Amino acid sequence: MIAHFDVDAFYANVAIRDNPALRGKPVAVAGSSRRAVVLTASYEARPYGVRSAMPLYKARAACPQLVVVPPEMQKYRAVSREIFAILRGTDRPVEGLSLDEAFVDLGDVAFDQACSAANDVRRQLFAATGLTVSAGVASGKMTAKIASDSCKPDGLLAVAPGDEGHFLAPLPVGRLWGIGPKMQRRLEVFGVTTIGDVATLEPVRARELFGLWWHEACDLARGIDPRPVEQERETKSISTEETFEFDESDERRLIALLRVQARELAATLQEEGMAAQTVGVKIKRADFSVVARQTHLAEPTRDERRIFRAAVHCLRRAALEGAPVRLLGTRVASLTLGDPLQTTLF
Ligand SMILES: [Mg+2]
Repeated sequence: MIAHFDVDAFYANVAIRDNPALRGKPVAVAGSSRRAVVLTASYEARPYGVRSAMPLYKARAACPQLVVVPPEMQKYRAVSREIFAILRGTDRPVEGLSLDEAFVDLGDVAFDQACSAANDVRRQLFAATGLTVSAGVASGKMTAKIASDSCKPDGLLAVAPGDEGHFLAPLPVGRLWGIGPKMQRRLEVFGVTTIGDVATLEPVRARELFGLWWHEACDLARGIDPRPVEQERETKSISTEETFEFDESDERRLIALLRVQARELAATLQEEGMAAQTVGVKIKRADFSVVARQTHLAEPTRDERRIFRAAVHCLRRAALEGAPVRLLGTRVASLTLGDPLQTTLF
């Protein structure tokens, strides 16, 4: 049995937790730039049609009383660490999907036991973080994830072994993993609109519609999903980036942003107890072409000034020569655990 845990409206939930005056109000977490999009909307904002990834100006038009709060990435990362510490504390394999979402392999247990284990974890997560979490329980990853999406907020939905196909059948075919909007439209043209329609396709027809993937698609639609929960590897890099409100070609402003990003990355490394030996920058030009440059340091660091100097070096190596920049990001990699100062002093 597999459980999928997902914090409800994560960023908005954190904002409301920390500012009870927001409770019951339509809240959106979004940046303040001209190009800002909604990162998360509270459940009170959703009836107005406010959705994540929606441009903020559209969200405001749809819901004039919308309360917009800025994102606080450092805080979300800290909460995420608490969440994953609890999940890993279950001593079961954990596969993280994002800051607030993970699969946990509950093992070869009876259905009832799986449900109570998942509910225990939800309670622990709420007790530790004050955030409501929804969980889906099923024999496979896709069904577990669809189940948790279907019972939000603050819900548990468990699909008993053998009931997967029945649970999935009425859902739109676009919910099936691997089916994008384009494929969905194509399938609909051929009368395949629900997951159940896929489950009952004749093999010949399935092969025509899905090509080489037909067998897996039909299995998934029937709830046959043998993919295991894959224990995650450790963090390989940490990055931060920003899209400019207006394309930026002034090198001083680019450098000023690198300074802010170096400070943020140094603080994150500090919190994680890590040091980095590689520093890189990513630049997206106004024409959307991307340049990346990186540099390897003589020794691991979490020093803001060293990260900053290395990032400036990378920026200059990118030889932009005044080309307008749409997005600028800094990344640190080759991470090691431990305090670099100690080795230096020693
Ligand atoms: Mg979530």
